[in-house]
Amino acid sequence: MTVTRETKDNALILWIDNPPVNALSQDVRAAILAGVTEAQNDASVKGIVIACKGRTFIAGADVKEFGAPPTEPFLPDVTAAIENSKKTVVAAIHGQALGGGLEIALACHYRIAAKGAKLGLPEVTLGLVPGAGGTQRLPRLIESTAAAEMIASGKPIDANKAKANGLVDSVAEDYVAEAIAFATTKSAENRRLSERAFQLDAAKFDALAAATRKQAKGAAAPGAAIDLIRRTAGKSFAEGMKEERALFLHLRASEEAKALRHIFFAERGSNKLPDDISDAKPIEVKTVGIIGAGTMGTGIAMTYLDAGMNVRMLEMAEDAVARGLARIQSSYRDSLAKGRITEAQRDQRLAALTGGTDYAALSDCDLIIEAVFESMDVKKAVFAKLDGVAKPGAILATNTSYLDIDEIAASISRPEAVVGLHYFSPANIMKLLEIVRAKKTSPQALATALSVAKATNKIPVVAGVCPGFIGNRMLRAYVREAGLLLLEGAAPEQVDKALTAFGMAMGPFAVADLSGIDIGYKARKEAAPGSFEPMATIVHDSLVEAGHLGQKSGSGFYTYKDGVKAPNPVALTFIEQVRSETGRTPRAVSDAEIVERTMFALVNEGYWIVEEGIARHIDDIDVAYVNGYGFPRHRGGPMCYARGVGLSKVVKVIEGFGQGAFGKWWRIAPALRNAAAAN
Ligand code: NAD
Repeated sequence: MTVTRETKDNALILWIDNPPVNALSQDVRAAILAGVTEAQNDASVKGIVIACKGRTFIAGADVKEFGAPPTEPFLPDVTAAIENSKKTVVAAIHGQALGGGLEIALACHYRIAAKGAKLGLPEVTLGLVPGAGGTQRLPRLIESTAAAEMIASGKPIDANKAKANGLVDSVAEDYVAEAIAFATTKSAENRRLSERAFQLDAAKFDALAAATRKQAKGAAAPGAAIDLIRRTAGKSFAEGMKEERALFLHLRASEEAKALRHIFFAERGSNKLPDDISDAKPIEVKTVGIIGAGTMGTGIAMTYLDAGMNVRMLEMAEDAVARGLARIQSSYRDSLAKGRITEAQRDQRLAALTGGTDYAALSDCDLIIEAVFESMDVKKAVFAKLDGVAKPGAILATNTSYLDIDEIAASISRPEAVVGLHYFSPANIMKLLEIVRAKKTSPQALATALSVAKATNKIPVVAGVCPGFIGNRMLRAYVREAGLLLLEGAAPEQVDKALTAFGMAMGPFAVADLSGIDIGYKARKEAAPGSFEPMATIVHDSLVEAGHLGQKSGSGFYTYKDGVKAPNPVALTFIEQVRSETGRTPRAVSDAEIVERTMFALVNEGYWIVEEGIARHIDDIDVAYVNGYGFPRHRGGPMCYARGVGLSKVVKVIEGFGQGAFGKWWRIAPALRNAAAAN
């Protein structure tokens, strides 16, 4: 039974117990409806409380019902029955009231929250709007722009804020007792939100609409939610509900909702152990060693400190240790100033951190992560030392971006302990963690990597060994096409604009400036001949050699004078020079071509990665790109996007690219051809 009934102090409590998150499955909806209906004629019941067992109030719809045709009773009928109840109904909220959970609470006559509870309508994150009255009841309860903001952002608010804006009536330690008191002493009269009207403050609303559309980067649902609320202001509740329903059904069938459901499920799959070692057990990780306290090492250190683990950082010299520690201190100082952490949390994290230069300090570490310079010789020297001091059974990880982890593993006496943990910058913020399974990585090492990903709130993707693994290998193909487009006639700014209009967080040239054009330059100088198209980065190389390294030197593809970003004339001159030296007449390049060239480069490389078994599932590629490379989530990742375009069309367009001057880079992956043929 997912819903049980308890009578206490003249109140009927409907206890929902549907672990893990008390989702609104069909049986839960039916039992709430039955409980409320039957209580109407039960003289012993003065009021009704809806409360949940376990760790949370109703945290949303049942994911098993996603995308399937809805089954009766429908949620809007359940919320209508709650609101129409003659007897007062009160929601007793702990944990999270999300989506349909908050819509149930909005239909209740009063809402009582436990301390720390969170309330939100995250439907837009699945390409939807609330479909059971959320868009109509919330603006009738709290100020309408605040309501619209909650719905369009999808972000929950906490109990204190909800009390301040009127969403909840009380925040109480003993929230169930308080809910019983409300249910048995307060009237339902004048508490039915459907009987109220709501109006807009047009100026505030316009500002919100503009900001929402800008932030959505092409996703439709947030803007559509705002428009719906604007359209229905001043109309009757019944009319508003009709419009909400129509929009909900329209969005549910959209490509955007399909893509967002796809990535939602893909993320739930990427953290599973590979089938061949599905019974592997992780070791317990309490203390983590980090070698190298640079950009990545310090970010990785904070990732583990934030999760409550001990961290020992190791550097080559004392001044480097001091710089690393200072960097972490300053980052926590910022977080404290912004109110993201408490003073106690900062103190606790800093107390769990030590730094030094002596490898002996790492002898009690369960996991050691190397984040030193990207050089095989340096990494091998570090691993040799780790081999000497790490305790038996410790996991030894490398954060390398491109190097051969099999070679690193083979250089020590315990290759089975070695795994890749490829973090993204800034490591304490970015969600993606590529876990690289080398030839000899033990099941236990891989299981531990997946379990620390979970403990540190990362979204993992398992990859095999190849230069760049999944993400950076694909990135190379994407950067190659962006670079070649410059020689053909596009300007860096046009390429960046076309791709941000597509939804990418940043364009490739802005990214190059941000991370430093010299980083790729060094890597290219050391790479095996033939692994790069030199013409694709000839402009990058000229910029580096002329001292334009990107933002850190003040200019790169763009200049950054006084905080204003503008095309760098030097870069444009270099581009023209290369064009004329190689006899190219620049042509007009359309934005559509920019998107196809760069995106299909990702897609084709993605299919090679699947073909070679570097990714264990095609969906993992989408997870990596959405969470580590700024790919627009509402397009579901590059592989999902390609299916939306049509794989046969993708193949045809790529065949055309294959006829171009740099056509040799467009070898079509057999897995792509096969998938296109199968469609
Ligand atoms: P960085 O130059 O900022 O930091 C490297 C640090 O390692 C320096 O502080 C250096 O003093 C220290 N170091 C070098 N050799 C050492 C040794 N033998 N013992 C102890 N410490 C040593 O570099 P980074 O950007 O942090 O990159 C580190 C690694 O992470 C590289 O392998 C890089 O490819 C990889 N990576 C970088 C990024 C990124 O965006 N920067 C992203 C993913 C992976």
